[in-house]
Amino acid sequence: MSAEQEGHGHEHPGMAEDAELGPIARRARAIEALLVEKGICTAGEIQRAVEINESRSPADGARVVARAWMDPVFKARLLADPRAALSELGYALPETTPQLAVVENTPGVHNLVVCTLCSCYPRALLGTPPDWYKSLAYRSRAVVDPRGVMREFGLDIAEDVEVRVLDSTADLRYLVLPQRPPGTDGMSEEELAKLVSRDSMIGVTNPRSPEIARA
Ligand code: FE
Repeated sequence: MSAEQEGHGHEHPGMAEDAELGPIARRARAIEALLVEKGICTAGEIQRAVEINESRSPADGARVVARAWMDPVFKARLLADPRAALSELGYALPETTPQLAVVENTPGVHNLVVCTLCSCYPRALLGTPPDWYKSLAYRSRAVVDPRGVMREFGLDIAEDVEVRVLDSTADLRYLVLPQRPPGTDGMSEEELAKLVSRDSMIGVTNPRSPEIARA
């Protein structure tokens, strides 16, 4: 960063620098400039949202899931008003962040999340989505053959369990609250969080069993 740019808060790359970016990055810059120009949000708000997303990882979601397993009252709040419940744990989602819905897996219902259009994902809690989530193969097959997709991830859902495929949008993102694995009585919240994988919060797998986590 040049001395000129320092103290300015963020960078405004010139045309020469833009030309070195790929087409997607250039498009993102153009959209950002338009959003600011039209007064939809400020450059500072965009920067803040990017910083939050980059600071988050599946470990943050796992913490939330483990808390819900430990505390049924928190779980009820999380399902009813995720934004408020998350702020209790220090995850204040920015106003500009899309709505987040938390969907609970039960013995009778298994939820699977996809974005058929692009790659919408609860980045403000889980960080960056995995590459396969953005692939055309997953986006199309998750809808047509969700059980087949889950089998490829090693998860066989019994025929008598209803599978719900949830299609994320720019306005609404989903977090799966997986079922607490059996044999986890007496485990601490921290130990439970280690069982919660990223993929189990998308719904393509279940959380790790304590035996597998120990191995
Ligand atoms: Fe999307």
